[in-house]
Amino acid sequence: MAIIRTVEQLQSSGLVGADVVPYLSEIQSHLDFRIPENYVRQIQTGDHALAQQFVPSTQELLFFPEELEDPIGDERFTPVEGLTHRYPDRVLLKVTYMCGVYCRFCFRRYKVSKQKQVHLEQQLVQCLDYIERDARIWEVILTGGDPLILSDKALKGVLDRLSTIPHIKVIRFHTRMPSAVPERVSDNLLELLKSTSKSLWMALHINSPSELSLTAERAIARLHAAGVHLLSQSVLLRNVNDTSEILTALLRRFVELGIKPYYLHYPDLAQGTQHFRIPLAKAVELIAQLRGEVSGLCIPQLMVDIPGGHGKVTLDRMRARQLSDTAWEFESPLTRQWIRVEYPCT
Ligand SMILES: *Cc1c(COP(=O)(O)O)cnc(C)c1O
Ligand code: SF4
Repeated sequence: MAIIRTVEQLQSSGLVGADVVPYLSEIQSHLDFRIPENYVRQIQTGDHALAQQFVPSTQELLFFPEELEDPIGDERFTPVEGLTHRYPDRVLLKVTYMCGVYCRFCFRRYKVSKQKQVHLEQQLVQCLDYIERDARIWEVILTGGDPLILSDKALKGVLDRLSTIPHIKVIRFHTRMPSAVPERVSDNLLELLKSTSKSLWMALHINSPSELSLTAERAIARLHAAGVHLLSQSVLLRNVNDTSEILTALLRRFVELGIKPYYLHYPDLAQGTQHFRIPLAKAVELIAQLRGEVSGLCIPQLMVDIPGGHGKVTLDRMRARQLSDTAWEFESPLTRQWIRVEYPCT
């Protein structure tokens, strides 16, 4: 079975039940379908973590009142269409709204997959002009959609322009392509990445160990060898990676591949994504458990993006209490006992 992009292909693949078929067009109107060939094969042979993430379900049509069209309030911080400037020193540059695979929990699903062509060149030029004018901007985060959906030629245009802006020191990609479409990491792309004069970082969106196929790992090794600094960003998803065993396997594999675990996102309140969330308290507990059991290299930060555009916060169980000017109490990650410590100050 080849790549799946249409209602008909989904039907004939046997991945969705007869009860879902009548709703597929409606589901597609909220977020398009796209499942790469290698994932279709894996799902057909019973890969549950991939099925949960990429096969549409009627639960996507249930909207809860708390859920928002633009859950993290990007639109409030969009001075130029395609650019989000919420924090002073960095901007999100959304170079496309297309992706190599569509995640059913996508937090930007109100925009993603809707615009059939990449950003109009004119719009991108306006975003780059904005970046050039504001010398506070130190880092540009290429996102979308998935920036690696762009052709090498289009990417080169963006990277070349950014290279000419002296205050930009760091370029970061947020992408799922190296794992979902590993062939995208071509010799030509690697040459292009190597040619930029800026510090280059790539946050790989990967949520379950089954996304790390042999070909995906080879693509990641090639990026690593090309000198790209690799980070992970994962979404904590019900029935995909919500156990300490799966998270441990995933996070350890990241470190083994030279990827520093960066963020573990609690799913944003995007419409039709309720079935992907576990209680937030359980998420905090999962991370606390990992802290005591797994190498610190493997621990990502658990992140919540406060709805409405109020920014991201890190969540961790409180393990320190101040008792007086000099006395503190800490919870041991090993025994969970509270240990009192005096720090005399002068
Ligand atoms: C998440 C986000 C960033 C990146 O945040 P980091 O904490 O630096 O990874 C930048 N801009 C916006 C608008 C964001 O939502
Ligand atoms: S790759 Fe990112 S932007 Fe694209 S569908 Fe998945 S979560 Fe959304």
